[in-house]
Amino acid sequence: MHQLTPEREAAADRALAVLTGRELEPVVDMVVWAHDGGYEARSHDGSVRFERREPDSPGPGDAVSAYEVVATTGSNPLADQRTDRLAPLAAELAELHPHRSANAYPFAYDHIAQLFDHPAAPDLCVIHSAGHNWEDQGGHRGEHGSLGVVQARAPFVLAGAGVAQRGLVPRALRVVDIAPTLAALLGCRHDEAAGFLEGQDGVVVPDLIDEGAGRPEHVIGFLFDGTNANVLYAMAAAGEAPNVARLIGMGTAFEHGAIAALPTITLANHTSILTGRLPGHHGILNNAWYDRATGVQVITNSSATWATAMDHATAGLDSLHRAVHRSFPDAFTASVNEPCDIGADYSTFDFFRRGEIPPIPQSPEGLPHSTERFVRPSKDYSWGTVVDHMGVEQAVGILSGRYRDVTYPIPKFLWVNFTLTDSAMHEGGPHSEVAAASIRDSDARLGEVLTAVERAGSFDRTAFVLVADHGMEETDPAVRGDWGPALRDAGIAFRDEAYSFLYLDEA
Ligand SMILES: [Zn+2]
Repeated sequence: MHQLTPEREAAADRALAVLTGRELEPVVDMVVWAHDGGYEARSHDGSVRFERREPDSPGPGDAVSAYEVVATTGSNPLADQRTDRLAPLAAELAELHPHRSANAYPFAYDHIAQLFDHPAAPDLCVIHSAGHNWEDQGGHRGEHGSLGVVQARAPFVLAGAGVAQRGLVPRALRVVDIAPTLAALLGCRHDEAAGFLEGQDGVVVPDLIDEGAGRPEHVIGFLFDGTNANVLYAMAAAGEAPNVARLIGMGTAFEHGAIAALPTITLANHTSILTGRLPGHHGILNNAWYDRATGVQVITNSSATWATAMDHATAGLDSLHRAVHRSFPDAFTASVNEPCDIGADYSTFDFFRRGEIPPIPQSPEGLPHSTERFVRPSKDYSWGTVVDHMGVEQAVGILSGRYRDVTYPIPKFLWVNFTLTDSAMHEGGPHSEVAAASIRDSDARLGEVLTAVERAGSFDRTAFVLVADHGMEETDPAVRGDWGPALRDAGIAFRDEAYSFLYLDEA
């Protein structure tokens, strides 16, 4: 666990005065930290202090309700934790860039506390405002990372064999509930007290499983990185994402989404989805952080470090791949383009770890399902197109029984990660033409994998899950700048990792 130490309290007070001052109010939604055995969230106009209460009979998921508010000043910035705020799409569009008084922060107490269970957690974690547009990061029109509901809300669709068919329902779950639910769907062994995965924070959502329908023999997961759930559901309903609509029609989708953990950042939540643990418990705290004990800056989410990112995870970390193998020792599992590949028999990142160059196409020219209008001018769109095409090639190859001269059985569990949606939604914002194009392209790629499952003759025995790692919110180009210069002007020594994790008295 990490708490603010007494010797850094004075520095923290000075930093907090700057961060929650009037000048930075448009940029800083709130600051959260751990001290004196509890947790605090402070904004410009109020604060809340809360403490964790140990449950009487500890078990998976109990932590969610085990918090008590012990003090508030002004207006409690975390007062609204409803999962249904700013959904569906019309509600989000009616209130772009919501002020915190109009925003919601689902599971905020648990999602804040869990972060500080890790010894390398920051002294202060800055939560940027809903409208904040990072100048230093290229002034993206779409952003995520905060506790706010639009940035935390990923889409969630479960479909196919063994899944209850309810269509789009007004509900939410947490990303950590996905791995236990998939393990239960497959009929993996579990322990009554501990659950399906060692140390799981999530719980099984039991009514997603249709017990009378029989268990699926296979599960295939699709992750559309950074996809705004409202946008995806609206496009599916409008016929613009027919394969996503097909999945919703043969299963259940949660309109209020799968809520990502803090920070609502890529690698932290990919790992939460595939391990059932919150970031402070699986150890992938962010895309970058600082390990004060060793003086090492850890960078996980970069092309140079993806292949070895899981080296920074908690030792012996369990995963869905491992849970499947424990229950089905002969089963084959595959992980395509996914950095969190612990326990997978096939993984794209094995190519890198073996020192091989994976089969990345040289150019996006002529690749199927690519929107040329954006591939040509946008470097990010072009790269996402190439990478996701390579993902389809691997998944389709494996499902056909042969990929790159190696023979494969049909995977018990196959995970396919797509990246184009994230880069397109950052670039144009979630409500842009380029974002819509990325969903159309990704939907078509998903369709190719579904066709490969049909060709393999296993469609009726397969369950499918579609999720993202976090949401994406439209930024306000007028809300620029960041807290770095203001803190430096105030003479505060700090390092800021991944633009949110502040470590005081460090340079
Ligand atoms: Zn992401």
